[in-house]
Amino acid sequence: MAKVFVIAEHRAGRLKTSTFELVGAAAGAGNETHVVLLGDGIGELAKELGPYGAKTVHLIQDPALKLYSAEAYSKALSALLKPAGPDIILASHTPTGRDFMPRLAARLGVGLASDCTQIGFNGTELKLRRPVYAGKATAEVEFMGPGPRMATIRPNTVGVPAPDPAKTAEIVNAAANLGTLKSKVLEVVKSSSSRPDVTEVPIVISGGRGLKSAENFKKLEDLADVLGAAVGASRAAVDAGFRPHRDQVGQTGKIVSPTLYIACGISGAIQHLAGMRTSKVIVAINTDAEAPIFQVADYGVVGDLFQVIPNLQEELKKIKEP
Ligand SMILES: Cc1cc2nc3c(=O)[nH]c(=O)nc-3n(C[C@H](O)[C@H](O)[C@H](O)COP(=O)(O)OP(=O)(O)OC[C@H]3O[C@@H](n4cnc5c(N)ncnc54)[C@H](O)[C@@H]3O)c2cc1C
Repeated sequence: MAKVFVIAEHRAGRLKTSTFELVGAAAGAGNETHVVLLGDGIGELAKELGPYGAKTVHLIQDPALKLYSAEAYSKALSALLKPAGPDIILASHTPTGRDFMPRLAARLGVGLASDCTQIGFNGTELKLRRPVYAGKATAEVEFMGPGPRMATIRPNTVGVPAPDPAKTAEIVNAAANLGTLKSKVLEVVKSSSSRPDVTEVPIVISGGRGLKSAENFKKLEDLADVLGAAVGASRAAVDAGFRPHRDQVGQTGKIVSPTLYIACGISGAIQHLAGMRTSKVIVAINTDAEAPIFQVADYGVVGDLFQVIPNLQEELKKIKEP
C-alpha cells in the first residue's frame, strides 16, 4: 500500500472529472489516498472527494491561489508535500497539470512521467504506460532512485468509479506557505467562444481540410449541438483559418481522450492521431477509403461528409426526440 497524493483540479466552482478518476484509481488499488485542493473559497468542494475514496483532503486556501498560477501552486505543494512524505504524487495531464507538475518535480528533486495512459500500483511503486513517437509506440515506465514517484495521467483513461455517499474524507486545513511570489495572475480572460472545450466533454466532432471552409464548420456545430459535443479541428483546418487554435487536436494542439471522437474530412496524419487515438470509440467519415484515419477507427464511413453529416444529424434527432 502506498501513500498517494492526488492534486485536485477545479474550474468555475466544480471539481474536474479527471480528479475523481485519479482518486478512484488510487483508492481502488487499496492505497492511502490523500487529495490536495488549492484555491480560495473552495472549502465546499472538499466534501465531494470522500465518496470517491479519499481518506484525507488537505485544503490550502489563500487569496493568491484564487487564480491558478504555476509558481504559487508548486510553492504551496512542495511546502506541504516535503514533510508529508508521499510515495506517489498524481495529477491530471491537463494544461494545468502539464504546467505545474514539472515545476513541482524540480522542487522535490525527482523525475516525472507525463501523459500516462495506463497506471498500475505495486506496493509503493508505480508502473505506467505512456505513448511515445507521437503515439506510434507505448513505453512502459518504472522509476529508479529515491521517490516520491510523480506522474500525470491523461484524462478519461482510467474511468470514474461510482461514488459511495457513505464514505467521507477527513478535511485538514493547511497553510499556503507561499513566501514572496515573483509573479501574480491579475485576470483570466476567457475565450469568446461559448462552445465547450474539446478536452472537457465526452464527445468531440472534429473537422479537417475536407470541410473546405470556415462556414462549413457550421454543419459540425449543428451536429455537435444535437450530441452535446465539442467541435475540434485538424491543424490543416486551423492553418487554413477555418477554426481557432484552441480547437486544434494533435501533437501541437490538445490531447483528447473522449468516449466518442468523430473525425470528418481528416486524413489521420500521425500528428493528429497523437492527440486522439486513445479515444474510446473513433468514427471516421472520409471519401478516401485508404485514408490512414480508418486504421484507428472503430467505425468508418467512406463517403462525402456533406451528405453523411446531415443524414447522421437527422437520424440522431429522431433518436433523441422520438
Ligand atoms: C511538427 C508537426 C506538428 C503537427 N501537429 C499537428 C496537430 O497537432 N494536429 C494535426 O491535426 N496535425 C498536425 N500536423 C499536421 C499533419 O501532419 C497533417 O498535415 C494534418 O493533420 C492534416 O490535416 P487534415 O487531415 O485535415 O488534412 P488532409 O491531410 O489534407 O486531409 C483531408 C482529408 O479530407 C478528406 N476529404 C476531402 N473532402 C472530403 C469530403 N467531402 N468528405 C469526406 N472527406 C473528405 C480527404 O480524403 C483527406 O483524407 C503537424 C505536422 C507537423 C510537421
